[in-house]
Amino acid sequence: MGTDPLMNLHTHTIWSDGSFLPEDLVRRAYSGGLKHIAITDHFETRKVENPLRADRFPRYLRNIHAVRMMYEGRINVLAGVEIDTNPTRCDLKHLPFDLLNQLDVILFEYVSDPVNGGIGLEEMGDVRAKIDVPCGLCHWDMDRIFGKADPNELADQLRDLDLFVEVSTSQYYSREGRQLYEHGERFYRAFDGKVKLSIGTDTHRRLDEVVNITRGQEFVKKLGMTDQMVL
Ligand SMILES: [Zn+2]
Repeated sequence: MGTDPLMNLHTHTIWSDGSFLPEDLVRRAYSGGLKHIAITDHFETRKVENPLRADRFPRYLRNIHAVRMMYEGRINVLAGVEIDTNPTRCDLKHLPFDLLNQLDVILFEYVSDPVNGGIGLEEMGDVRAKIDVPCGLCHWDMDRIFGKADPNELADQLRDLDLFVEVSTSQYYSREGRQLYEHGERFYRAFDGKVKLSIGTDTHRRLDEVVNITRGQEFVKKLGMTDQMVL
C-alpha cells in the first residue's frame, strides 16, 4: 500500500458477457505487471443476456479460486461480482447474501443514477448492511449525478456506508474526451482520508484492456491518494 496502485478490480469473463476465461485475464494481467486483479462478472441482472446466476455461483467461485492458487505469490486474484442496482432488472432485496459473502469484493453500478434507474445511496444502506466484504461503486458519473452538491457531504455518506469508489479507465466511461473520473475530480479530492479507491477497466472483449490502468494510476498519484487504495 502507498506505493503504486497496480490493480484492476473490474473485469468480465465468459461467466457473464465477457469473451475470455478468468485464466486468460489473469495471465495477461500478470504479464503486464499488475499486482491485483478481480474477476467481477454481472450477477443476476436482466441487463445482460447471460449473467452469472446463483446456481452457477459455486462453479464460478471454484474456477477463480483455482486460478488464484495457480498464480499464488505472483498476482493476487480476487473473486467478485458486479451488481446492477436498477430494481427492475435485479432483485436487490432477495440477493443470495450467503453466496455474496463468499466473495472478496463486490461492485455496484448505477447507484443514485436517474438515467440508469439505480437505487439511491440511502437505500444502499440496507443492502450494504447484509454484506461483510468490501463493496464499491463502479464507473460512477458523480459529476452528472450530483452536480453542484457538496463533495464533502457525499464523502461523509460514502464513508458511513463503507463504500469505495472506482476510477474507471474504460473508454465507455468518458465524455468530451475526458474520463468520468476526471469530470468528477472535485469529488475524489473530497474522498481524501474518508473514502477508499480502486482502479477498474471493465474489460469485456479486448484482452489488452485488462492492463489499461495507467491513466487511472496517474490520476490517483496526482491526487496524492495512493495510500487510499482499497487493497
Ligand atoms: Zn462491468
